[in-house]
Formats: sequence, structure tokens, C-alpha cells
Amino acid sequence: VRRFLHGATIIDVRRRAKVLLVDLDTGYTLVIHLKMTGQLVFVAEAVRFGAGHPNDSLVARLPDRSTRVTITFTDNSHLYFNDQRKFGWVRLVPSSQVAELDFFKKVGPEPLADDFTWRVLQDRLLRRKKTSIKAALLDQTVLAGVGNIYADESLWDARIHPLTKVGSLHNAQFSELHAALIAVLKLSIEKGGSTDRNYVNAEGKKGSYIDFARVFRREGKACPRCGATIEKIRAAGRGTHICPVCQPAPSE
Ligand SMILES: [Zn+2]
Repeated sequence: VRRFLHGATIIDVRRRAKVLLVDLDTGYTLVIHLKMTGQLVFVAEAVRFGAGHPNDSLVARLPDRSTRVTITFTDNSHLYFNDQRKFGWVRLVPSSQVAELDFFKKVGPEPLADDFTWRVLQDRLLRRKKTSIKAALLDQTVLAGVGNIYADESLWDARIHPLTKVGSLHNAQFSELHAALIAVLKLSIEKGGSTDRNYVNAEGKKGSYIDFARVFRREGKACPRCGATIEKIRAAGRGTHICPVCQPAPSE
């Protein structure tokens, strides 16, 4: 660490799925995987921005109890890696070996890539024919970078119940889900992962990171499309939010 990290200069920052790659001039790369509850927060004198799991540490005084790694830059700004549940990790790997990491060999295509058509989505998902569509969407070897929020939001948008088996979906549903995924991911990039102003609302608490959500964490509230009450169910082992009218349960 002393030799390859201390005093190093960052030459590039890349992202693949939920993994961030920070290339250093020492020939090493910091590989950062946020997993389910990880987040990165950059704090300088005049700016602060963060991304990842939307909890209060995004706006709290740092380091806090969830801080696992602190990187200090020469101008005395800091990058904090926080993770409440310790599933995320940071590794220092020779840059030449990054592509050989197990994770990169197995990870699926990026939904925002130009060549990601609805047919590609269909092909990838159909590798998991017998599982629920929600589980397939969250599987990083099927698709890269689709997390719990985006899965719930795009399934609502495409009017598909999360427990529907992938094999029972029609062409039109794959096509609608494809459009929904791209719309949801683009909106999240537009709204999230930016400055403090976006995170802190009038109460100084949670910010707009998930304010754009139409079903996620809105159980008990009205569906913005039909007015029915949004429900929270369990799918793929995760808390899952649906409109029971827009997303009828699969019959089987
Ligand atoms: Zn509805």
C-alpha cells in the first residue's frame, strides 16, 4: 500500500457495473465494489458529492461508524468509502490484472451501451428462464449495474409483476422493459450521484436521490399511474415495491 498507493496520482476513473476503477500512475488500480450498502462520498472545502446506497451517511459528518476507508488527497479533500454492512470492498490490484478478476469475466452487458437492444436484453434474461424477472434483473452476470431501486422502478414502468417467470414473458414485455430500464437508469444518472444540493432537501435530511421513484419505498402511497395503493412484497430475497393493479400477479 505504501509503495503503490501513498503518493500516487490518479490517471483515470472508470466504472463497470457497480464497480469503480481508479487507475494510478504506479501501475495499480483501486477496485471499489459498493455491493448493496456501500457508498462513496467526496468531501472538499467547497464541494461534497456522493453516490451509492442512499442513507444518512451521504449527508452526515464523516468519517462515521460506517466509514471503512478514508483517502486523503494533497489538497486535504477526502474520499470516504462507507458501508454499514461490510459487504462492499476496496482492493489494490495491478492494473494489468483487473480484467482477469473473476467479477469482470462474468459480468453482463451495460444497459446503457449503444448495442444494448431489447433483443439483447431478451437473450440475456432468457438465460434465467425459470427464475422470477426480478431475480434475473438483479443478477450481475445477466445484466450489469441494475440494483434494487432500478429493478422495481422499471418493472412498474413496464407493468410486469416482479415474480413473473422470465420464460413466460412476451416479446412486447421484453421490449417495454428494455425501454423502461433505459429511461429509469438515465433518470437516475440525471438526478442522483451529484452534489450535496441534490441530496439535502428542505429538512436537511434525505435528498432527491430516490425522490424520483414512483414505487420504491412508497408502500401505502398511491400509484402515480392508477391511484391504487402501492404494496411491499418479497421477491428475489429483497424488499420489492409494486402496484397490485398495474402489475397483476402471475397466474400459475
Ligand atoms: Zn397502478
